Amino acid sequence: MRETKLAPRDQGAPDYTQYLHPLMAKNYGKWDYHERIKPGLLVHVADSGDKLFTIRAGSPRTMSADTVRKISDIADQYCEGFVRFTTRSNIEFLTGDEAILDQLIDAIENDLGWPLGGTGPSVSNIAHTQGWLHCNLPGSDAAGSTKALMDDLINDFKTENLPNRVHISSSCCQINCASHGDISIIVQHHHAPRIDHDNMQICELPKVVAICPAAAIRPKLVNGKESVEIVEEKCMYCGACHGQCPSMEIRDSETDTLSIWVGGKMSNARSAPTFMKLAVWGIPNTPPRWPEVSEAVQKILTAYKETGKPWERVGEWIDRIGWAKFFELTGFPFTRYHIDDGPEALSNLNRSAMVRL
Ligand code: SF4
Ligand code: SF4
Repeated sequence: MRETKLAPRDQGAPDYTQYLHPLMAKNYGKWDYHERIKPGLLVHVADSGDKLFTIRAGSPRTMSADTVRKISDIADQYCEGFVRFTTRSNIEFLTGDEAILDQLIDAIENDLGWPLGGTGPSVSNIAHTQGWLHCNLPGSDAAGSTKALMDDLINDFKTENLPNRVHISSSCCQINCASHGDISIIVQHHHAPRIDHDNMQICELPKVVAICPAAAIRPKLVNGKESVEIVEEKCMYCGACHGQCPSMEIRDSETDTLSIWVGGKMSNARSAPTFMKLAVWGIPNTPPRWPEVSEAVQKILTAYKETGKPWERVGEWIDRIGWAKFFELTGFPFTRYHIDDGPEALSNLNRSAMVRL
């Protein structure tokens, strides 16, 4: 029988063990404890007595080839070629050699120009979506607004002065691929897509109809040509159809706004994962610095810093103090948009005729 040769596997996550720093591989599963020496510097101590130092820095997330080469040179020189990124785009340089720590930190801070921090109870690097760089949907520039916001929050990244870690994410449409965060900035559209009927045949219409989560799109003949129509009362302005078909344009520089959501958490540490809830609605979408977003995020962080208890995540803090107190401390207006009156709201509103804060 002829031997069957399979093509090499070229998709899915590769075996991560090949990327572990040698000290990490040697002591895998045999770590005794770890300490945060200072913001951005950790040491893990193994049962064997081996020490592995981790230097965490904030990366700019979107990088040029030249920057990646600089990172690689530093990793080759000080870290046996090993470096890794966290889920929030912090970069971590690893070394077992305590004697070279100062040189390594100097190379990160001065050659790369990146700040150390993001460890412990600090604001971690902001996770943002691809934005205008690589996606056809953005109503805002997630990378740009993140850069502007991190400039304002740099001290909360470099120090550990918060009750617990704060994960911030920024998404340029409501598909929200930056995912849940303690604080999350998300674009909101305010009307149904405008349909370019003359151009509708460029996409597969059944797919356009099927993509709508609210079943608001149905086929329609327009001027004798196959197209679609939108049942506006059903449309929730999510923009999913625009991702499927560019002829359904939902972005609008005049009316799109940003919103801030709070209390999302994906880990199981201390409490179950939670979804975010709306905190601020209708913030102007104002490139290139988005000052209104920064001001709102800083109000949340200030209130959290002043009244949060040690280890409380933002969502746990709000659950303890209550939403009425949250709005009082931050000064954000409570609007009708904060009331979840969608079809699934019965599970949120205690099935009562009254809205309780
Ligand atoms: S959040 Fe939306 S617009 Fe932004 S990158 Fe993700 S899918 Fe594209
Ligand atoms: S914006 Fe969303 S809800 Fe509205 S028609 Fe498109 S997919 Fe459906």
